[in-house]
Amino acid sequence: MTRESLALKKKRVALIIDALNRTYPEAACTLDHRSPFELLAATILAAQCTDAKVNTVTPELFRRWPDAFAMASADSREVEDIVHPLGFFRQKSKSLIEMSREIVLNHNGEVPSTLTELTKLRGVGRKTANVVLDACFGGAGGAGIVVDTHCKRISRRLGLIGRETDPTRIEFALMNIIQSSDWPVYGHLMVWHGRAICLARRPLCEVCPVLQWCPEGKIRTGGMKL
Ligand code: SF4
Repeated sequence: MTRESLALKKKRVALIIDALNRTYPEAACTLDHRSPFELLAATILAAQCTDAKVNTVTPELFRRWPDAFAMASADSREVEDIVHPLGFFRQKSKSLIEMSREIVLNHNGEVPSTLTELTKLRGVGRKTANVVLDACFGGAGGAGIVVDTHCKRISRRLGLIGRETDPTRIEFALMNIIQSSDWPVYGHLMVWHGRAICLARRPLCEVCPVLQWCPEGKIRTGGMKL
């Protein structure tokens, strides 16, 4: 198989994003939130858990502790009781409270708007920071691409990241071939496509809108030509 040039890869990924944009015009963050603080907290809670499940507990969580000031002085056992159904409840509760204390102490209670500052907070890695910067700050502040399990799986199947498994290296590999204005939407499109068609176990390649640009899909469908 001939090696694809960077220019051709950039062209191919642009066509893929265009097709996915037409397929999922409503693609956006699926964690319910009304402020950067709520999205930051919800994203921390979403680790190893579905967004839908997180959305079932956050109304009560944010009714009781609606901002960093309130959460910073919360009783950890009371927070644990509410986030218990999401798994890793002790660790998640501790992260929420500690992260809120850091926001109060270092940022006057306001969620910071840069990747550098966000990733200094407890429990906040590049993925969480990118989610918040994309949804609440228009992708500013040094935001990159949200690399979650869907993004990893589909980008690999699409032949965009080789065999890379490290999330940060995957993010930089993708940023090298995707134009920056598409970085926020790419993460959303991966999630929506991963839930609807490019399923983890049995991707539905026959009905996939990007099959013609997908090496894995062509193998799975026996070289189907469109
Ligand atoms: Fe996923 Fe198949 Fe579509 Fe490729 S063609 S993106 S493997 S569903």
